[in-house]
Amino acid sequence: MKFKSRYRLLLIEDDDEQAESILSNLHDGGRVGFSVTRVKTEEEGLRLKGDQEFDAILLDLGLSGRDPRKTLRQYTECYREVPIVVLTSSIDEKLLRQAISWGAQDLLEKAEVRGGVIARSIRYSVERKRALLQLEQKNQDLKGFAHTVAHELKTPLQSIVTALGIAKETSSEQLPDNVRQLLSMGFESSNHLSNLINDLLAFAESDPGSETTGKVDLDSLARSAIAELQVADGADGARFEIVGPLPEVKGVHSRLRQVMRNLIANAIKYRREEPLVVEISSECRKGECTIRVKDNGLGIAPENLERIFESFYRVHSRDEIPGTGIGLGFAREVVERHGGTLGVESEEGVGSTFYFTLPTT
Ligand code: ADP
Repeated sequence: MKFKSRYRLLLIEDDDEQAESILSNLHDGGRVGFSVTRVKTEEEGLRLKGDQEFDAILLDLGLSGRDPRKTLRQYTECYREVPIVVLTSSIDEKLLRQAISWGAQDLLEKAEVRGGVIARSIRYSVERKRALLQLEQKNQDLKGFAHTVAHELKTPLQSIVTALGIAKETSSEQLPDNVRQLLSMGFESSNHLSNLINDLLAFAESDPGSETTGKVDLDSLARSAIAELQVADGADGARFEIVGPLPEVKGVHSRLRQVMRNLIANAIKYRREEPLVVEISSECRKGECTIRVKDNGLGIAPENLERIFESFYRVHSRDEIPGTGIGLGFAREVVERHGGTLGVESEEGVGSTFYFTLPTT
C-alpha cells in the first residue's frame, strides 16, 4: 500500500481556537503534507461539493443545535467517495460505534489530536474508504453477474416446470407408479428451483445506485401489502391490525415494500393452527422510527434467532413448509442500506416480533 504524501482536507469547525489548534497539529504531522480548506458551518462545507476536490473531511460533530446523525448522513450522501474523520469533544464507545455505522471512517477526540495521530488517522481512513468503494464495486459486479445468470435460467426452467406440471396431471392414469413419482419429484424440484431463482433475482436487482430515494408512506405501503397477502394461501381467518398511522420514512419505496411484504408473508407462512393475528405498529423518536410486525405464530427457538438471517438457512424442511431461506437476509440488507437495523424477538410456540428501524424524513 502506498500512501499519498499530500492530502487535500476539508475542515468543518466553528470554533476559531479549536480550528487553529487542529491546523497547527496537522502541520506538525511529520512527512505528510496537508492543504486545508476550513469552513465554519455544515452548509458551507456541503456547498463546496463540485467546486473543490477533497481527499478527506474532518468534521466537528459537536456543532451546536445539530443532529449528529443527520449531519453525517448529509455528508456521506454529498461526499460519497470521501472518507470522513469525525472530531468530537469526548468519545464514548456508543458514539464511536454509532459514528462508524453512520458512515464515518474514524472518530478522534479533539484533546488528543496530535500531529502524528491525526495524520495517521487520515491516511488510514483514505485507504479504508478506497478499499470499501472497491469492495462495493465488486459486489455490484457480482450482483450484475448473478442477475444475468438468473435471467438466462428463468425462461427455460419455467418451461420445464410447466411441461412437468402438465405431464403429471394429464398422464397420471396411464403411467406406472414409479414414473408418476419421478414426474412429481421433477415437478417439485424444478418448482423450488424456479422460486429460488425468483428470490435471487429480487436480491440481485437491488442496485442502490439505480433506485430513487424519497418519502415513503409506510402506512399505505403496509395496507397495500396486507390487501395483497390476505388472500394468499394460509391467510384464511387471519386478522391484520395496523396500529397507526404508520410514519413516513426516507427510503426506496420498492425495497421497503419487499421488506414489509416479506415479514407479513412469513407471519402467514409460519402460523400455528389457531387464528392468526398480525399486528403492525411503530414508534418514532430522534429522527428514527422502529416498525414492528408481531405475530402469534410458531415462534423461533433461541438458537435460531440469528441464523434465520443467513442466506439459505431454514428451520423447517421444504416438505413441511416451502421456502428458499433468502427473504430475511435480503430484508436485513435492504434495511441496513437504509441506515437501519432489522432484528427479531421471539418465543417458540407463542409468536415473533420482527422489528426494523428507518430514518424519518
Ligand atoms: P423462507 O421463508 O423462504 O424460509 P426467510 O429468510 O424469509 O426464508 O426466513 C428464514 C427462516 O426464518 C424461515 O425458514 C423460518 O424458519 C424463520 N421465520 C421467518 N419468519 C418467521 C415467523 N414470522 N415466525 C416463525 N419463523 C419465522
